[in-house]
Amino acid sequence: MSLRPETELVRAGEAPSQHGGYLNSPVYNGSTVLYRSVAEMEAALSDPLKRSLPAYGRFGSPNVREFEAALAKLEGGHAAVCTNSGLSAITTAMLAFVSGGDHLLISDSVYLPTRSFGDSLARFGIRVEYFDPRIGGGIAEKIRPETRLVVLESPGSNTFEIQDVPAIAAACRRRGVTTMLDNTWATPLFFSPLRHGIDVSIHSATKYITGHSDSLLGAIVCGEKAYEPVRRSAIRLGQCGNSDDAYLALRGLRTLGLRLRQHQEQALALAAWLQDRREIREVLHPALSSHAGHELWKRDFRGSSGLFSVVLQPVYETSRITAMIEDLKLFGLGHSWGGVESLLVPIDPSGYRSAESWRASGALLRIHAGLENIDDLKSDLSRAFDKNL
Ligand SMILES: *Cc1c(COP(=O)(O)O)cnc(C)c1O
Repeated sequence: MSLRPETELVRAGEAPSQHGGYLNSPVYNGSTVLYRSVAEMEAALSDPLKRSLPAYGRFGSPNVREFEAALAKLEGGHAAVCTNSGLSAITTAMLAFVSGGDHLLISDSVYLPTRSFGDSLARFGIRVEYFDPRIGGGIAEKIRPETRLVVLESPGSNTFEIQDVPAIAAACRRRGVTTMLDNTWATPLFFSPLRHGIDVSIHSATKYITGHSDSLLGAIVCGEKAYEPVRRSAIRLGQCGNSDDAYLALRGLRTLGLRLRQHQEQALALAAWLQDRREIREVLHPALSSHAGHELWKRDFRGSSGLFSVVLQPVYETSRITAMIEDLKLFGLGHSWGGVESLLVPIDPSGYRSAESWRASGALLRIHAGLENIDDLKSDLSRAFDKNL
């Protein structure tokens, strides 16, 4: 029976028959796994990629495997690989595909630590080139014979450019170039990279999947061809998710549908309200019809999550903006996002863009719409704006 995403979120990965009927699996804390015979040991070690038998804690506890199975199912992947953070999911996947002498293309709008890792790869003789996130099918002109991997993120971190994923994926596929996309913002619920031609989908499960700001975890969802190199990369790097975190991530998935729809609604309400405030020059939210990537977003995504940015009018001194931010009571000043709490952080992308320059003239604030009462959130912002700006 083919199940709809909301149903998969509630059921995927569950294995009560393997845990005495308990719906939720016990947390397996362990390193050593005992084999019943030498033959079983040899079988387990002979095929670490398929791992049909448990071999060692680092190769994935039952909690980790159940989380991997759930994510693969949700995104229509062949299999998934769990890592200890979203960033390690990115670095593990990138290392699976590039070697010295290769050419690597990275969208200019990616999460800054992804970019920093690209810079590290340059030390190993990998040529890294950044491209305008709006390049679309024009990516074909950037592909060289030695191009191995194209790294995407849509919308882009902090600046929210939407990429023409099907066009980029198709151009890369024609040239045999692997594509990976950071899908953390949309979650498996609102965007399906593999169904749009992408080979590898990345999640920081730290964000909406776990959903309560209480753990760090990453996942790499792979199409069939990408799975072996990614799993091998994870094994060789010693990458592994932790059982407690995989347990929390799987529990988080069960309510992701409910939470994400509410985050979506809260963010849309705040974005519309902010658009009318005199202090705001521009709201960067792809679900607004004023957004440059709105048509692409509408074509490819099933919804929008709770993270977006605003550009302030270019008239405020930094000290006033700082005072405004520090005056907020409900919007915490902290990184990461995807938990139940609202957050607001100042961001300056102008220092690290290289393919195109960051064009906004006013200060950029990134907002995570939490699950507090929407009128309380608006009151908090309007009080801090009125007092300081
Ligand atoms: C937070 C984030 C990551 C990194 O996730 P961690 O779990 O904190 O390592 C990667 N990509 C995006 C888009 C993120 O927002």
